[in-house]
Amino acid sequence: MSKTVPFNKEKALGILAEHGSPLYVYDEKGIRDNAQKLNDAFAWSSGYKNYFAVKATPTPGILRVLREEGMGFDCSSRSELLLMQGMGVSGNDIFFTSNNTPREDFELAIELGVIVNIDDLTQVPVFLDALGDKEYDSVAVRYNPGDEHGGNEIIGQPTEAKYGMSLEQVIEAYEMLSKANIKHLGLHTMVASNELHEEFFVKTAQIIKNAVKSIEVKMPNAVKFVNLGGGFGIPYNPEDSALDYQKISDGVRSELEELGVEIYTENGRAITGPYGYLLTSVRYVMEKYKTYVGVDASMHNLMRPGMYGAYHHISVLGKGDDGDMTYDVVGSLCENNDKFAIDRRLPEVEPGDILVIHDAGAHGHAMGFNYNGLLRSAEVLLHEDGSTELVRRVETFEDYSRTIQW
Ligand SMILES: *Cc1c(COP(=O)(O)O)cnc(C)c1O
Repeated sequence: MSKTVPFNKEKALGILAEHGSPLYVYDEKGIRDNAQKLNDAFAWSSGYKNYFAVKATPTPGILRVLREEGMGFDCSSRSELLLMQGMGVSGNDIFFTSNNTPREDFELAIELGVIVNIDDLTQVPVFLDALGDKEYDSVAVRYNPGDEHGGNEIIGQPTEAKYGMSLEQVIEAYEMLSKANIKHLGLHTMVASNELHEEFFVKTAQIIKNAVKSIEVKMPNAVKFVNLGGGFGIPYNPEDSALDYQKISDGVRSELEELGVEIYTENGRAITGPYGYLLTSVRYVMEKYKTYVGVDASMHNLMRPGMYGAYHHISVLGKGDDGDMTYDVVGSLCENNDKFAIDRRLPEVEPGDILVIHDAGAHGHAMGFNYNGLLRSAEVLLHEDGSTELVRRVETFEDYSRTIQW
């Protein structure tokens, strides 16, 4: 099984010559086509919007593409709100899902007029106090369905999660919020991560429907919108199959259409993940007790394999992604889990070859770090006409040492 790459070796060498190696390359056309596919699947639902989870790929040059495709943004921190402010995005184009939220962040969110999603009962009065008697457009409450939903492998059991409120608490929050001058109240939940079964999201919709009905026993028509969260998975392994958006949408429709509420999601990974590639050049092929391919990227560029043991497919440009050799592909960090692949079957690799690490377009560069004094790579957007645009420059030692009091 293999994965395709939207550029050949010659093109990649040109891009790396211009922008340096290692490098993140994002395929603009892939991202746009995918966003359109998602929006088309939910076209029956007027007001449907995916709020792209900014933490997945917090780079304005890429976020702008998503904005052009009609997406909003899901922010979880003050810095992410400030990124939005920098991009000129505000109001209902932002869903602010934070937790353990400081009052100042509610104040900034209110200033920007964003949809504020409240995680816990303790924070309802803090938000209301920050709001005062101002009129406000939209506020959501984060629901944790506890035992109602089985949870999934990566995110775990909802009852063990620190997020959200029980149904009783949600109702209590609604009672407090409905006394303020807020036009639209909504309900949010997020119980999946990298989930590849369509039915999981239909079940989530059903649980949300039941919660809406319970709330509306006391407060008829109180819920104007629901956010089903993110967590659509992607086939990191070419043997997995991609989610069928239409199937999810049809299932969600059968559960939620009768409620007449606006429907939102907040996927990050599924939107940009498959369309981001980490390009890295081979420095050495080293024979120890095993054979190691030493590349110029390290775990600080992409930590998912080292941190979660996550599979990322690798192709060798010009040679393909299958062969007779077995390698560990490693970086230069002084941590033995700095490995992009262990015992991976690949074509024979030589110094100077370019490896493409697939599915790095979400939770990739964004999770980068500076341990060992390693510096993060640049990011470029590959336009449909083949030109590239630098959307984040490479880090320098000056960036790294900026906070030091020498
Ligand atoms: C991380 C996160 C998302 C996005 O998750 P993906 O797996 O990238 O889809 C959405 N909503 C919330 C609240 C999150 O924390």
